[in-house]
Amino acid sequence: MRKLMKRVNDECPNITRVYSIGKSYLGLKMYVMEISDNPGQHEVGEPEFRYVAGMHGNEVLGRELLLNLMEYLCREFRRGNPRVVRLVTETRIHLLPSMNPDGYETAYKLGSELSGWAMGRWTYEGIDLNHNFADLNTALWDAEDNDLVPHEFPNHYIPIPEYYTFANATVAPETRAVIDWMQRYPFVLSANLHGGELVVTYPFDMTRTYWKAQELTPTADDGVFRWLATVYATSNLAMASEERRLCHYDDFMRSGNIINGANWHTVPGSMNDFSYLHTNCFEITVELSCDKFPHASELPAEWENNRESLLLYMEQVRDREAPPAPGVPPTLRGWWRDAARGSPNAPPRLCTPLPSSLNGEAGAGAAGACALCVRSVRACWGTRVCC
Ligand SMILES: [Zn+2]
Repeated sequence: MRKLMKRVNDECPNITRVYSIGKSYLGLKMYVMEISDNPGQHEVGEPEFRYVAGMHGNEVLGRELLLNLMEYLCREFRRGNPRVVRLVTETRIHLLPSMNPDGYETAYKLGSELSGWAMGRWTYEGIDLNHNFADLNTALWDAEDNDLVPHEFPNHYIPIPEYYTFANATVAPETRAVIDWMQRYPFVLSANLHGGELVVTYPFDMTRTYWKAQELTPTADDGVFRWLATVYATSNLAMASEERRLCHYDDFMRSGNIINGANWHTVPGSMNDFSYLHTNCFEITVELSCDKFPHASELPAEWENNRESLLLYMEQVRDREAPPAPGVPPTLRGWWRDAARGSPNAPPRLCTPLPSSLNGEAGAGAAGACALCVRSVRACWGTRVCC
């Protein structure tokens, strides 16, 4: 993986940078590929995007897809593909292919046939990283029940509770590295790539009723999240295929291959909920394939299944006022504002289309309407309609 990243960096030195966000428990570096027209710099007006894969080390497809994606972006940028040139010029993309490198090594040694459901899922210490982020949901919901939100208690940028910061807290080094990373870069959009099912889930991942194993638990930005999840699910060839079969027992096709995470099964301490509540980055989870560890021979087909979704999803951060590049499918894009264009105190965040647009009524031509900026007045700016 490191060699491949180095090769991409050598081939496209002007638009790539490899950096590490920390080390796993066993000391493996957690490498990120940055792809941008000015690598190493945050540019005002340019949204920061991330893909994270391999949080569960035995779910290997996401890692392979991100390696494919970096090769593809480098190659197509050099060829002058207008869609890719535009994406790379207007977005700062960060790809973390292996969040749990120790788990991956365990699964890799066993191979596709033997790694199974669990081996390599956890870190070397036995921690499931998708349960290891600070639970900010409970504090938010308590404050909501007491009518404290948003004036006395924030509904985003919620601070990390003190217990979580103690040296003896059960927080994996991999989790700490990702939290530092989230705090260092003003990401606005992300997806977390998993495997073992074929569905896209969106926050909240944790049920609001604490004893319930599943319960529909939407965020205040539910329309945006459903939109984002739908973008991925409808452009993914495997999910959209009429011939697709169930992976296990759940029939997600009836709901368009998307589901509210908590309505599937509760996940306290998930990365998605943390990202949404502690920063302002909207994150969904993509379960990429029934098989967590597909054979190498299946990878080209899986890349084809996911290539358009991976690109289209990144394009959701694009400024909606700019016309799409030639050949880009017309989509309704979320749009994004940087502090320089709105209030100087405003953090970057994804702004959202009207809910009616979710049924395709408004379409890409709808002018500057933003109806779903519901999190707080401070969180949203620069739009005439709602905030
Ligand atoms: Zn997983």
